[in-house]
Amino acid sequence: MSEENAARDLRVVIIGAGMAGLLSAIELRKAGITDYVIYEKADRLGGTWRENRYPGIACDVPSHFYCYSFAPNPDWSHQFSPGAEIQAYFENVARTYGVDREIRFGEEITRCEFVDGRWRITTKGGSEDEADVVIAATGVLHHPNIPEIPGLETFEGSSFHSARWEEALPLDGKRVGVIGTGSTGVQIVSALVDRVAKVSLFQRTAQWVLRQENPAFSDAEKAAFRAHPEQIEAIREEASEMFAQGFANAVIDPDSEQLRGIEEACRQNLEETVTDPELRERLRPDYRAACKRLVISPDFYESIQKPTAELVTDEIERVEPSGIRTRDGRLHELDVIVLATGFRADRFMRPMEIISRSGKRLDEIWAQRPSAYLSISVPDLPNFFMLNGPNGPVGNFSLIEIAELQFGYIMQLVDMIRSAKCREISASAAATSNFDAERVEAAKSTIWTTGCRSWYLDDRGIPATWPWTFDRFREEMSAPDLDDYDCID
Ligand SMILES: Cc1cc2nc3c(=O)[nH]c(=O)nc-3n(C[C@H](O)[C@H](O)[C@H](O)COP(=O)(O)OP(=O)(O)OC[C@H]3O[C@@H](n4cnc5c(N)ncnc54)[C@H](O)[C@@H]3O)c2cc1C
Repeated sequence: MSEENAARDLRVVIIGAGMAGLLSAIELRKAGITDYVIYEKADRLGGTWRENRYPGIACDVPSHFYCYSFAPNPDWSHQFSPGAEIQAYFENVARTYGVDREIRFGEEITRCEFVDGRWRITTKGGSEDEADVVIAATGVLHHPNIPEIPGLETFEGSSFHSARWEEALPLDGKRVGVIGTGSTGVQIVSALVDRVAKVSLFQRTAQWVLRQENPAFSDAEKAAFRAHPEQIEAIREEASEMFAQGFANAVIDPDSEQLRGIEEACRQNLEETVTDPELRERLRPDYRAACKRLVISPDFYESIQKPTAELVTDEIERVEPSGIRTRDGRLHELDVIVLATGFRADRFMRPMEIISRSGKRLDEIWAQRPSAYLSISVPDLPNFFMLNGPNGPVGNFSLIEIAELQFGYIMQLVDMIRSAKCREISASAAATSNFDAERVEAAKSTIWTTGCRSWYLDDRGIPATWPWTFDRFREEMSAPDLDDYDCID
């Protein structure tokens, strides 16, 4: 190796201490890169699972699949574990791998600028840092989407977004309104219906609900997982295969047998569980299953039929000091309003200011909408890589599996920089626009375009997701095609 080609010691800055940021730190350390730091704007790690603490929160992919491949957990309490357990899992893994000590809490990165071959980083508190490589692990479902409902600020009870739950607020015996019928709204209704005086679910769009029981693991099962880790591995492989072949193939091919199977299961759940024909029709979506993110629940339909629950389908007109007024003139008196209204999934790393090599702001680059080559790299942002970036696989998958595959790919690019094969590497503009054009074309024939409103759709109504098979995603992530990159050595 010539002198110019000698290995470089790299300094890496990771932004965000959620699932993906922790993964990055652990993997960097395994690869022998020890000069890294994680900046986390909050005072605790965990991202999604730190922020979302509403009653009933649980993951909706199997627990043994929703964990790192290198850190199986024999102690999950349920097949689909509650959020607090997932938060504890991430805290435990971070401690075990020693990456919790590398986190700078309470430090929000507000600016990254590429100057003279390095990233210059500024935090909200005004401190500065420099890095050869930046890994943005800032999350997709992170910025709450607050709907503009007239009068919301006049409400005299408590109102908050589901990701900002007021944990000290007593709910027993209260009248609670939940706005939004996605996975979160459904989980909250099921968790509250036996505790509160009344829970009113304000539905703009009915959802298809796939029934999925959630049994607890017995002590004997947990002991067996501990004694035979290969049992966990088998569950993981089965789940991964099931999601890849069953779910991923279903969503990209609306005529597939797999999608018909999902539709039939959802329809059966509705027909067989909801006894009142009028309620059943109000709960029946007018679009195809999996067009919106599929809601998975063991008991939503039972919950919404209880005397303490009400499904409100009249449109919300405004919020008044004592409750929500619907268009039919009725005032629904409430003590608490929960906005289960999702997230601004198009924000990604923003409002962070990112200045490219040629001096362009990311907001300009993404003026129309976010895009990135393979959702990882943006032209003119050298040595800057995203996990769970724009247009990646989303939906009812384990985002951990996705982040691990993405990180394996990113690490190969980092190695190019480390081995000084490229001092600066980023996707080429041509590869990025070809990728995007191909992606948009493929997206047009997926289930997501079959006639529903969802957070997957961009401003043109094109699904901002991975529109191909999961096998293709794995294949693409196995090794970068260096012809698609600009490499300055
Ligand atoms: C209610 C809910 C349920 C979910 N259920 C599932 C599920 O069942 N299965 C599944 O696969 N996925 C699920 N998800 C998706 C979930 O977000 C991911 O699985 C995963 O937790 C994302 O991890 P992340 O590290 O990419 O992002 P996050 O967990 O969002 O972490 C990002 C971190 O970056 C920090 N950050 C952001 N910007 C900055 C900045 N400028 N400076 C410093 N720090 C910053 C944030 O504070 C945060 O801690 C769910 C999401 C939600 C909201």
